Amino acid sequence: MRKKVIAGNWKMNKDLHQSQKLVSDIINGLGKDTKADVIVCPPFTSLYEVSSLLKGTQIKLGAQNMYYEESGAYTGEVSTDMLKSVGCEYVILGHSERRVIFNEPDELINKKIKVALAKGLKPIFCIGELLEQRENGETMQVVSRQVEKGLEGVSSEQMKNVIIAYEPVWAIGTGKTATPQQAQEVHSFIRELVAKKFSASVAENLIIQYGGSVKPENSNVLLSQKDIDGALVGGACLKADSFLGIIASA
Ligand code: PEP
Repeated sequence: MRKKVIAGNWKMNKDLHQSQKLVSDIINGLGKDTKADVIVCPPFTSLYEVSSLLKGTQIKLGAQNMYYEESGAYTGEVSTDMLKSVGCEYVILGHSERRVIFNEPDELINKKIKVALAKGLKPIFCIGELLEQRENGETMQVVSRQVEKGLEGVSSEQMKNVIIAYEPVWAIGTGKTATPQQAQEVHSFIRELVAKKFSASVAENLIIQYGGSVKPENSNVLLSQKDIDGALVGGACLKADSFLGIIASA
């Protein structure tokens, strides 16, 4: 049985003091018998402090991006070792905001995924179609390409440390959520792709999160779909109550 994994992507929100408050509220509100795995991904500037506050709790820390080089003249970038040194276990890669606003192609995302895995960081690898692509009936084609290219050169053994987040871009931050049936259809398709590319057991054990306007009001029904193993949450993770509500429904 796959465990549910709920991750909060804070994006470019929360300064240091706001981060302290939010993570403290999440820690204090999280029940002792929480079954789901919980990950918070604050901005870089808050990682160290949030990491200190998370010590001794069950909540894990993730970053929102990284660069594939180890060090050097890459102004503005952050390496895997830097992220690990402040306590990160996960890193979000291939988020649609990185793909669309910062023009990150599949090849770059693939390089980052391979380096993250080689260095011991677990990627939360985001994929998903644009509205136009869905309307043109291209969803499965887009998702196949992203899986194929993003996971090129990754081994079956390394796949144990990969989470895939299916995030239809038209549902991110828009208040529009994929229906549970729409989401389940793509999740099951992704699992089949992974089974073909790696193996049935890799696919069976893979955590596939859904992301796109998840909130406490819709998380229960989404998370009860057979192939939806958790959520990557944007807007609703910025308030402790709503993030905790989603965790409770998992
Ligand atoms: C996201 O950016 O990963 C996301 C799912 O955002 P939101 O929940 O705000 O749609």
